[in-house]
Amino acid sequence: MRFIDHLIVGGSGGAPARKAPVFNPSNGTVQAEVALGDAALLDRAVAAAQAAQGPWAAANPQRRARVMFEFKRLVEADMQELAELLASEHGKVVADAKGDIQRGLEVVEFACGIPHVLKDEYTNGAGPGIDVYSMRQPIGIGAGITPFNFPGMIPMWMFGVAIACGNAFILKPSERDPSVPVRLCELMLEAGAPEGILQCVHGDKEMVDAILDHPAIGAISFVGSSDIANYVYQRGAANGKRVQAMGGAKNHGIIMPDADIDRAVGDLVGAAFGSAGERCMALPVVVPVGEGTAERLIEKLLPEIAALNVGASLDPSAHYGPVVTAQHKARIEEWIATCESEGGQILVDGRDFTPQGLEGGFYVGPTLIDHVTPDMTSYHNEIFGPVLQIVRAPDFEIALALPSRHQYGNGVAIFTRNGHAAREFAARVNVGMVGINVPIPVPVAYHTFGGWKRSAFGDTNQHGMEGVKFWNKIKTITARWPDSTPEGGNAFIIPTMG
Ligand code: NAD
Repeated sequence: MRFIDHLIVGGSGGAPARKAPVFNPSNGTVQAEVALGDAALLDRAVAAAQAAQGPWAAANPQRRARVMFEFKRLVEADMQELAELLASEHGKVVADAKGDIQRGLEVVEFACGIPHVLKDEYTNGAGPGIDVYSMRQPIGIGAGITPFNFPGMIPMWMFGVAIACGNAFILKPSERDPSVPVRLCELMLEAGAPEGILQCVHGDKEMVDAILDHPAIGAISFVGSSDIANYVYQRGAANGKRVQAMGGAKNHGIIMPDADIDRAVGDLVGAAFGSAGERCMALPVVVPVGEGTAERLIEKLLPEIAALNVGASLDPSAHYGPVVTAQHKARIEEWIATCESEGGQILVDGRDFTPQGLEGGFYVGPTLIDHVTPDMTSYHNEIFGPVLQIVRAPDFEIALALPSRHQYGNGVAIFTRNGHAAREFAARVNVGMVGINVPIPVPVAYHTFGGWKRSAFGDTNQHGMEGVKFWNKIKTITARWPDSTPEGGNAFIIPTMG
């Protein structure tokens, strides 16, 4: 049985006390075991990070950028192998796995420009003989705790920026698909990052708690489900750390009566069912505005859904693959049953679905449910599977209110040909990321990613300048170089610049 060990300086020190199985969701077999670490192991990783961080921060930013350039080259060279490994543990299809890695690499590309980004602010002559400037200095040791659904992209969101800024970084990836995160850390070392600058520790709650409580870790970035995000935020902040914690989602796609319906349906099918719906930026709720729009939408959706091919993650003809675990499959099927019992009308039922020859795998067929209403618990909660719920809205204002009032506020999309409606919607909707005729509005790497309400705890977003702010402390220097000794005695009032 393949064993996935921690990647820390000096090695993990032998067989772990605890391990967890890593499944191949396409056929349901256990394909590897991953070590589960504890506070003592974390202490060793932190000690190595502390030793490495000072010299790394002192290296000029061009040198750190060169390591990022080389890392990008190495990941690109290994893209096929990494994508297959990712697909085999996560269940997403290989083409989608490449997208997962590529979106992370785009953050690394952003980090390659770190010398420019870190230049910061300067005011010449803020007062007589006075200059004011600010400098960003790395936090020291940062940690990242990541979810199963983007094992390539999300670790790179975090360590790409943190390391380029001069921090040492400890990654705690999901124990369900840990192999690609480990490979990424190996490639970063191969690219020239000094030992200790990027380490990977595995584990569950025990390791997460050790990270949250470790006095030498200054900043923690978390992505996962909302209850755990909130817990991480509260406990980390109570320990005096900087914490950003991204949580769950329930993104709505609003279809206005004037939308290009064929295009919107194509986008919707990809966004609702791609990656088996296991994306925080999936579109699991569609809101047709007006009864006529709803009827046209359903008429076009049904054949598109019927044409979906669900198969093994390594099958190039599959549109999407299995979900991550048998427990997750069972939970999704329970939500479908709950929605039905709450009055949802099931138009396509993906329960008890097994593609031929893939009997042991964790598959859920595409599911379409009509007449879902905002009072249903299945609407209120994240299902995180290939389930599309239709919530009919009579007009624009009600459609706008649905995502605005929902507990989650990660992403939202509107499909329309009316620029004014789109503009109004973008300005007024109470959600962090908005797509206008764009189904999955994940911002590019030099902008920032983050939701509102229960989709994110903490103040700063991932990557872009928000990421740079998160992984650095700002120091502001006010310097006076007078050309002569000023007249007068001590000043007992707050200094002003005159
Ligand atoms: P999860 O919350 O179960 O796990 C996330 C991380 O927390 C993992 O590393 C896991 O080991 C750890 N963890 C699990 N249980 C814990 C506990 N009790 N105490 C402390 N740590 C614990 O999430 P997941 O199932 O891996 O990922 C799916 C979730 O992540 C979905 O809710 C999805 O919406 C969300 N997500 C959000 C974003 C975003 O940017 N907002 C992006 C991707 C995924």
